[in-house]
Amino acid sequence: MTTQPDLIDTRTSPSGPTVQAPGWLSPPDHRALPTSLWAPSVHRDDDGVVRIGGVDVVALADRFGTPAYLFDEEAFRQQCELFRDAFQDVDVHYAAKAFLCKAVVRHVADTGLFLDVCTEGEVEVALAAGFPPGRMLLHGNNKSDRELELALTLDIRRVVVDSFDEIERLTALARRLGKRPGVLLRATVGVRSDAHDHNATAHEDQKFGFSVSAGEVHEAVRRVLAADVLDLRGLHSHIGSQILDSSGFEISARRAIGVLAELAAEHNRELPELNLGGGFGIAYTSKDHPLGPAALAAAIRAAVQEESSRLGLTPPRLAIEPGRAITGQAGCTLYRVGTVKPRQGLRTYVAVDGGMSDNIRPALFGADYTVTVGNRVSTAEQVLVRVVGRHCDAGDIVVRDAYLPGDVRVGDLLVVAATGAYCRSLSSNFNHTPRPPVIGIANGVARELIRRETVADLLALDVG
Ligand SMILES: *Cc1c(COP(=O)(O)O)cnc(C)c1O
Repeated sequence: MTTQPDLIDTRTSPSGPTVQAPGWLSPPDHRALPTSLWAPSVHRDDDGVVRIGGVDVVALADRFGTPAYLFDEEAFRQQCELFRDAFQDVDVHYAAKAFLCKAVVRHVADTGLFLDVCTEGEVEVALAAGFPPGRMLLHGNNKSDRELELALTLDIRRVVVDSFDEIERLTALARRLGKRPGVLLRATVGVRSDAHDHNATAHEDQKFGFSVSAGEVHEAVRRVLAADVLDLRGLHSHIGSQILDSSGFEISARRAIGVLAELAAEHNRELPELNLGGGFGIAYTSKDHPLGPAALAAAIRAAVQEESSRLGLTPPRLAIEPGRAITGQAGCTLYRVGTVKPRQGLRTYVAVDGGMSDNIRPALFGADYTVTVGNRVSTAEQVLVRVVGRHCDAGDIVVRDAYLPGDVRVGDLLVVAATGAYCRSLSSNFNHTPRPPVIGIANGVARELIRRETVADLLALDVG
């Protein structure tokens, strides 16, 4: 009889742990917090306690409870400024969907960036913080009439048009309201990002934009020009997310410029703008080595210059929409350990008081993260652990593979790095879990930017 491998009980293996750490993971220095993975202000002090923006996480846990999203407002601003300065001749839009609240909007405004929004809700948060609509760009593959009307009545700077249906609706609305919105057409240029498949948005079999290869972009341009009430500014191409190098952006830019050249030949006029979207990656673990904004800007600028001059085109005015690369490392999540289960011969399971409701990315994308003990330093031998959440789902993983001190225990605080993007914004109330607060830290002072939800909040919605 053959034994099915997955029925072997490896826990009885006499030869020690049977679970191997992934090749990229090695036990970290128990004191160091690598600056490539954390916001610049995050460090471990001599007392062993982790501090963010000068505020220690033990005090934060006492005051605000756990779990909590911690948000280094100065790190966020620094990233805005870094992108603005690296991409000086490019219109840099912060992509609101990565993480948005009124404080974020104000930092985006102060640092001179534009804002990329996709829904009425995002528009309203921006307006509530006083952001000028003339610096917003509206996305969406299925915008509501209300959203299109908002774009027109507020004079939102650019509407990225995504379908033939939308051309018709926007044209009719613009006529009715006597407006002439600036529009970009979202083109799918056939570049597939090398990130997770869910993040690959510019290959053909997906919902966004007008296909280049099927000739849809060319047809869309004809219809927009014929409509005459839409001010066609150019094309938009977003190729995916968490992209660590520049080659995808260069190919996408070259293809889009190729289309601009064809359009110039057909219509005897050059469209002045090209928006290359977002998708710039960050380091979540020691295996990620993203290109910084300066190198990205240089590579993209060179590709655009070269392709434009090769095709005899005036180089278009560029725009980009970084989300994750601006806010990802400004955030981290603070949890408290509730149970520790050493699984003999396998590894230790450390359960915290949050999980897939506050960070769905490990379950959704198989995303990896970096974690450290926040309240003390330990010289105990580092052991391979899996940090899991408190939800009723075996996929409820916070950090799939990590080394933590072997004496990690109930009551310890854990800090997970780089949770500033797509954690709060993708959070849920799974298991009727109230969502954690977002604690902003600036000038050595912590304050609630978004308060913690309560069970009463959840019950208030249940009106049946
Ligand atoms: C999601 C998205 C972005 C931001 O992506 P990041 O990976 O966070 O940089 C920008 N533009 C569009 C159109 C998007 O859908």
